[in-house]
Amino acid sequence: MDLELTASQKAFREEARAFIRERLPADIRERVRNGSAFHKQDTVTWQRILHERGWAAPHWPNEYGGAGLGTIERLILLDELQRAGAPTPLAFNVAMLGPVLLRFGTEEQKRFFLPKLANLDLWFCQGFSEPGAGSDLASLRTRATRDGDHYIVEGQKIWTTGAHNADWIFALVRTESAARKQDGISFLLIDMRSAGVSVRPIVSIDGEHHLNEVFFDAVRVPVSNMIGEEGRGWDCAKYLLGSERATIASVGLCWERLERARELAAATRQGDRRLIDDPKLATELAMLGAEVRALELTNWRFLTDPEMGRKMPAFASVLKLKGSELMQELTALLARLSGPAGLERRDGESHAQAGAVSRYFFIRAATIYGGSSEVQKDILAKQLLG
Ligand SMILES: Cc1cc2nc3c(=O)[nH]c(=O)nc-3n(C[C@H](O)[C@H](O)[C@H](O)COP(=O)(O)OP(=O)(O)OC[C@H]3O[C@@H](n4cnc5c(N)ncnc54)[C@H](O)[C@@H]3O)c2cc1C
Repeated sequence: MDLELTASQKAFREEARAFIRERLPADIRERVRNGSAFHKQDTVTWQRILHERGWAAPHWPNEYGGAGLGTIERLILLDELQRAGAPTPLAFNVAMLGPVLLRFGTEEQKRFFLPKLANLDLWFCQGFSEPGAGSDLASLRTRATRDGDHYIVEGQKIWTTGAHNADWIFALVRTESAARKQDGISFLLIDMRSAGVSVRPIVSIDGEHHLNEVFFDAVRVPVSNMIGEEGRGWDCAKYLLGSERATIASVGLCWERLERARELAAATRQGDRRLIDDPKLATELAMLGAEVRALELTNWRFLTDPEMGRKMPAFASVLKLKGSELMQELTALLARLSGPAGLERRDGESHAQAGAVSRYFFIRAATIYGGSSEVQKDILAKQLLG
C-alpha cells in the first residue's frame, strides 16, 4: 500500500533497501535465495550487521539495543529483508522472547538478556509444544518443582526448531496443577548446557534437520530465570503470540517467491516459446499477484488501525491462514516450474531451481506451525458466529 505511506515512511523504505543492497554479503544472499542448506553463521553474521544499525530488533527501545521504530517501519524493514532474500533476524530472539522480556522481565533480566538477543550472542529456541500438547498447548506436562533457589525440571518438548543450534530455550513448564489448566504454567529460561538437557533430532520430509525433541531430566534451573510471576506463564505465552502478529502474514516472502516464479518462467523455454508466454501460466501468475497484493493491503489495514485489532483480535487468524496458504501455493508453483532440476540441492552449487522441491515439502508445515489452519478457522468461527 505504498500509495498511503507517508513521505518519511517511503524514505525509510528507500533507506532500508539501500542498506540491504550495500551491506548484505553476496554469498549469504546467494545461499538464501538458492535454497542452500541452512547455515547458522549466515544468520549470526547478518543479524550483527543489522544490529550495528539498531535494526536487528527495530521495535525495541534504543536502551536495550533496538531502534524504537513503530510497527509500520518494522514491517517495511521486514518486507525489504524478505524481498531481498536476506536472512531475517532470529524470530525466537527478537519477535518472541524480546517483547516478553520487555513486558514481564525484571530490569536485571532485561539488561542481561536483551543486548545478547539482539546481537545473537545467545541463540534461543522455543520450548512450548509437547507430545499431546500442541494445538491444546495448556495441556503441557513438563514440570518444574521448586527446590530452594532452583527449579527441578522434568519432561519433554517436541518440534523444537533449531534446538540443536540453540544456547538457551524459553519453555513453558507446569509449576502447579490448577483447576484451570492455563493456570499454574510458568515461563522459564533454561541454559541448554545444563546437566540433564538432551536433544534428539527429527528429520523432516524435506530431508533436513530443523526440528528436535528436547528432554529435561532433573535439570536445575535458577529461580531467577523465571520471567514474570510463578504460575502466570500463560500471560507471557499469550503476549508472545500477540507480538508475532506484525510478522504473521509473511507478505515480503510471498512477493519474493512470486518474483522468482516470474523470473523462472521468463527464463525457461518450452519448445519455441518461453513459459511466461503461455496464457494459462500468465493468468495464474496474475491471479497470485492479486492475492499477494490483497494480503498486503489486509495486513496493513490490520496493523495500522488499532480499532480493528481491538474490535476483532481474531483478524490475525485471517492473516495467518491466508499468508501460509498463499506461501504454499507460490512454493508449489516454483517447484512445478523448476521441473526435475528442482530436486537438486547441493551446497556451494547454485542455480535458479535448486532446492525448489525441498522448500515445497518444508512449507507444507506452514499451515501447522504457529497454529494450524483448522485452529485458525475455529477461532474465526467463534468470533464471527459466536
Ligand atoms: C516445522 C514446524 C516447526 C515447529 N517449531 C516449533 C517450535 O520451535 N517450538 C514449539 O514449541 N513448537 C513448534 N512446532 C509445533 C507446532 O506449534 C505444533 O505442531 C502445532 O501447534 C500443532 O500441534 P500438534 O502438532 O500437536 O498437532 P495437534 O494439535 O495434535 O493437531 C493434529 C491435527 O488436529 C487438528 N486440530 C487440533 N485441534 C483442533 C480443533 N480444536 N479443531 C479442529 N482441528 C483441530 C490440527 O489442525 C491438526 O490437523 C513446530 C511445528 C512444525 C510443523
